[in-house]
Amino acid sequence: MLKWIDVIRFASTGNPVPDKKIVKKNEEWQMLLSPEEFRITRLKGTERAHSSEMCSLFEPGKYACVCCGTLLFDANQKFESGTGWPSFTQPATENAVAYTKDISYGMVRIETVCNTCDAHLGHVFPDGPEPSGLRYCMNAVALKKIENNERKATFGGGCFWCTEAVFTQLKGVLKVESGYSGGKITNPTYREVCSGLTGHAEVVEVTYDPDEISYADLLRIHLSTHNPTTLNRQGADVGTQYRSVVFYRNEDEKTTALEIISELQEAYDMPIVTEVSPLDYFYRAEDYHQDYYANNSQEGYCQAVIDPKLRKFRELFKSRLKDTEQEMNNDHV
Ligand SMILES: [Zn+2]
Repeated sequence: MLKWIDVIRFASTGNPVPDKKIVKKNEEWQMLLSPEEFRITRLKGTERAHSSEMCSLFEPGKYACVCCGTLLFDANQKFESGTGWPSFTQPATENAVAYTKDISYGMVRIETVCNTCDAHLGHVFPDGPEPSGLRYCMNAVALKKIENNERKATFGGGCFWCTEAVFTQLKGVLKVESGYSGGKITNPTYREVCSGLTGHAEVVEVTYDPDEISYADLLRIHLSTHNPTTLNRQGADVGTQYRSVVFYRNEDEKTTALEIISELQEAYDMPIVTEVSPLDYFYRAEDYHQDYYANNSQEGYCQAVIDPKLRKFRELFKSRLKDTEQEMNNDHV
């Protein structure tokens, strides 16, 4: 997660390297953009406050650069700042936006531009909500909303190597990433989370298509593939980082989570202790934790702990799996 110190560092010592660079002359941009889009993005203009409906739009989705189409922001990081300009706490990726010192109008501010095509977007300020503390104050005209049907869900159920291996196999699941949520510090490392002192849980962020698999079904599968009745513990893994938890993104998800928990309670003799909390932030774990099971299926932990769990899961949710035994067997060759 980027914080103010990172923004200052980028502005003074150089910006992150973008995935690609697009360079056009102003005359070319003028042909491609409306006069207002051109004025804002290429001539560093500012739109009137409250001039766009985008300020009060909070539906899931993504925001791209109006000039070059590069993904800049995700609605998950959008918040109501009350300023009259669409506001975000983070860019979609850490190299999506570039930063420069702007001393116009007798103020010192940090200007933000699209890192791909240098379109002026707005400014970033250190007075946003925690945990990043950043407020990306954007011109709505510089952004275009991309409609897409993807949703994200965040669950913890013990070691994330296991939970990731389970969700990866489901039809309708587009991506699964391992990470940390629900703790006290920003950008925690695996070692810090393992100490149990940061309060983070090992979680997976599941990107899914709700037309193919519902949030309720993801919850049912989550609660049936770990033990939701043991407090801060899954088998031999003990500690708050292994707690059973559902991090919800909105009130609908919260209501659904509570409903599914009471629905599944009948299947367990002991009370379900799964925590249901609002998501503060998902910190992606270190690269070597991603796809851990797929990359390390011969290791002792995978064979002793994850394999039996996956066999049980595949039997239970046969009809929900992506594809056949074949894929599974190939993984083990
Ligand atoms: Zn751009």
